[in-house]
Amino acid sequence: MSGFLSAHLNTLTEYVPGEQLQDRRYIKLNTNESPFPASEGVVAAVSGQTVRDLRLYPDTDCRLLIRTLADTYGVEPENVFVSNGSDDILNFAFMGYCGPDRPVLFPEVSYGFYQVYADLYRAPCRKIPMNPDFSIDPEKYMNAGCTVVIANPNAQTGIALPLADIERIAASNREHVVLVDEAYVDFGGESAVGLTKKYKNLLVCQTFSKSRSMAGARVGFAVADAELIADLNKIRYSTNPYNINSMTQAAGTAALKDAQYYEENCRKIVRTRAWTKAQLEALGFFVTDSSANFLLAGRGPVQGKTLYEKLREKAILVRHFSDPQLDDYVRITIGTQEQMQQVMDAVTEIVKGR
Ligand code: PMP
Repeated sequence: MSGFLSAHLNTLTEYVPGEQLQDRRYIKLNTNESPFPASEGVVAAVSGQTVRDLRLYPDTDCRLLIRTLADTYGVEPENVFVSNGSDDILNFAFMGYCGPDRPVLFPEVSYGFYQVYADLYRAPCRKIPMNPDFSIDPEKYMNAGCTVVIANPNAQTGIALPLADIERIAASNREHVVLVDEAYVDFGGESAVGLTKKYKNLLVCQTFSKSRSMAGARVGFAVADAELIADLNKIRYSTNPYNINSMTQAAGTAALKDAQYYEENCRKIVRTRAWTKAQLEALGFFVTDSSANFLLAGRGPVQGKTLYEKLREKAILVRHFSDPQLDDYVRITIGTQEQMQQVMDAVTEIVKGR
């Protein structure tokens, strides 16, 4: 560090993204990306006139993308916010709704960025322990008395809460924002988007990074009551109103029009997830009941970190977390059926000590 950085920022522990190794070709299953390419409509949108028009600043109001999202999700444009990946929305929400005297409550095992943003804005964290099977006990999120953040399906575990529980949590915390992070909802969760019409405190965010094969484009969006959306726009216009570039806006709009292609890809992932889970269980691993595009597997014949390292030697990248609760686990993104066959061949070899 330079010595110029503020004392507060100096003390922060940053988020650690999944490895992006380039030393050889890996089967990359460590950041929950889609194994399928962006749709042809997206490819066409990011060429020709869109590229020539890069001389212009992007539409700060993202009108076409927002209108298309509103039509897709059955809400009004004033209920939609778009951002540079959903991390941006999380950042804005923590900035806006948490602080030194405004604590935030979230599950102990979840998306690592929640802690980072809480620390950034000096918000005390109330981390709720998991049930022994890594599920969430919704009762512990009722009447929280502070901002609540829940990933549903949850990060790292993939376990989803039923919509009825999310509704009870939103209803019991009407004085505080309840942020439901639905990054993985398209792989089998129940979305709370419809509930945003009923609960003014409910902020639902999603991303194009997983089910819509656009992690590199950086598109996230939120759906909520118009007043919450206005808050987020106030922050966006106070930081960087050009945060969604014009190629990304065009790509996002095109992706929404190719819904069938992405829905079919999600169905493939769900089928392959079930197959992979059964294979891992047959080898003696505990595997979470995931509704996301990844599985958390552990407590098996090979220790989590060892499995991660041995798979890496075989050019397969999965995720291992330093969190002591997850030390004996790996998180495996679901790739294509062919990729998962290769993963299972490799895991079987490792388990049998070959
Ligand atoms: N929320 C959760 C739970 C995630 O796992 C991720 C992906 N790492 C994100 C949000 C952020 O995704 P993005 O910024 O790519 O939209």
